[in-house]
Amino acid sequence: MVILVTTRVNDSVKVSGLAIMGGTFDPVHNGHLRTAVEILDRYHYSNLKLIPCFQPVHKDRPSVLPQHRLDMARLAISGDARLSVDSREIDREGPSYSIDTLRDLREEIGPDESLIMVLGMDSFLSLPTWHKWQQIIKYAHLLVVSRPGWEPDLISELSGFCENYRAASSHELQCAPSGRVWFETLTPLGISSSMIRALARKNESIAYLLPEPVQKYIEQHQLYR
Ligand code: ATP
Ligand code: MG
Repeated sequence: MVILVTTRVNDSVKVSGLAIMGGTFDPVHNGHLRTAVEILDRYHYSNLKLIPCFQPVHKDRPSVLPQHRLDMARLAISGDARLSVDSREIDREGPSYSIDTLRDLREEIGPDESLIMVLGMDSFLSLPTWHKWQQIIKYAHLLVVSRPGWEPDLISELSGFCENYRAASSHELQCAPSGRVWFETLTPLGISSSMIRALARKNESIAYLLPEPVQKYIEQHQLYR
């Protein structure tokens, strides 16, 4: 029998389990942050870690230094105690493979706690190109969130994967430590880091696409010019 461990804190139910969201965060924006808080509210996890990568494996080098991306992520989450930033991929350096990060986290939290990797539909569709992608599900659940412009157009490898691992209900993600895929539709926000970089390059406003302290940081350090 699986017992779901919950504790009541300030009248709200907190579910034990760790959610993470990896990315380049070049820069972090409201699409990332809104995704994070909507997942926390729906699932009642007590913590969601943003994990900026050092070196993305599937795209060009980030436009700014890892330290800037880390600082901006830290500034962005300061308003919500449930969010944190984890610097392990940046500290590790080299190509940032999710499998290494998940293996690390699994060792830290033990075999029984639920570990949830949150990723947008665009990232999920690229999963079969990830390093050791079929092993990822051994360490974590995949919680795939909608992203404007991306449809769940599953190539055969992924549709087989979904047939094997798709959960019957979202509750399964809280009852088992890993091994399930679930899809969530969230408030659609058509924001991307590339769009913000392009606006900044043209000297157009990036206001309201990302938190104000991050906007100020970008201006102060003259990033993305
Ligand atoms: P870039 O344009 O440089 O690729 P990005 O906006 O896609 O940047 P990433 O750091 O690549 O941001 O994304 C990190 C994670 O956040 C990915 O899983 C991605 O799918 C998800 N994500 C990013 N933006 C959104 C959004 N607007 N809505 C939902 N998910 C998002
Ligand atoms: Mg992206």
